[in-house]
Amino acid sequence: MTEDTWLASHPYLRSIAEFDAQIATAAASLPSGGARTPNWEDYIGDYQARIPLLRSSHVAIDFQPAEAILVSLVESLAAKPLPEKLAAECRVLDNQLREMNAARRAVAWLLDDEVFKPAHPGLTRYLGWTALARYLRPIVDAFSSWRDEERWFCGYCPTCGSPPAMAQLVAFEPGHLRLLSCGFCGTRWRYRRIGCPFCESAGDHRLSAVAIDGEKHLRIEFCESCRAYLKTYNGEGSESLFLADWTSLHLDVIARDRGLKRLANSLYEL
Ligand SMILES: [Zn+2]
Ligand SMILES: [Zn+2]
Repeated sequence: MTEDTWLASHPYLRSIAEFDAQIATAAASLPSGGARTPNWEDYIGDYQARIPLLRSSHVAIDFQPAEAILVSLVESLAAKPLPEKLAAECRVLDNQLREMNAARRAVAWLLDDEVFKPAHPGLTRYLGWTALARYLRPIVDAFSSWRDEERWFCGYCPTCGSPPAMAQLVAFEPGHLRLLSCGFCGTRWRYRRIGCPFCESAGDHRLSAVAIDGEKHLRIEFCESCRAYLKTYNGEGSESLFLADWTSLHLDVIARDRGLKRLANSLYEL
């Protein structure tokens, strides 16, 4: 499935697709300054204690380059012809990030380490995670190869600690494997096939599924106990499209209409 085919059948997603593409192009033109992989031996104890990588006090990651990427990204967007509301928010954020220590505090705020009041939290979270995910990519990749998935199995991201934005069901003999996907840093990790990752209800607590008319690959799964839902991609091969979160914003609308709760922050609540 390509993005064009998807947009042809979901034309209401076009404006968010264009916006996302604009930001991606702006981010791709900046040097990423790829983060240095930590020494895994220092982290193994915290990993076994299920402390996410970015929250471990035994791992020192230099976030300064990510702060610089964020500042450059906002600066380049503030100078671009964008829709008026967005352009105005970018200019305000651009000014705010020029204040002393503001970029450092903004990145720490994304990681839940600091109280910071961005003028436009939705936009700041979106652009901030775009910058941070780009910078952290080498670490996220190396971490995926290093970790023993069987030792995690938690309902939050092993890299940044966020709840999952989406799930994926992959055929795996003799049944299915469930992966969770972080909407912020882009990590995908394994989770139990059944059970709710939000309230970690006992393993026998199955999620119920809502099939969506006309959607072969996507469905909504939800927990009867805590009423949280998880958009789920049932398949393989089109992860970048189906796990992008924005490509299934219509499922969020359907889930909310049914009184279900989204417990993961969305980057697309702008
Ligand atoms: Zn994450
Ligand atoms: Zn639950």
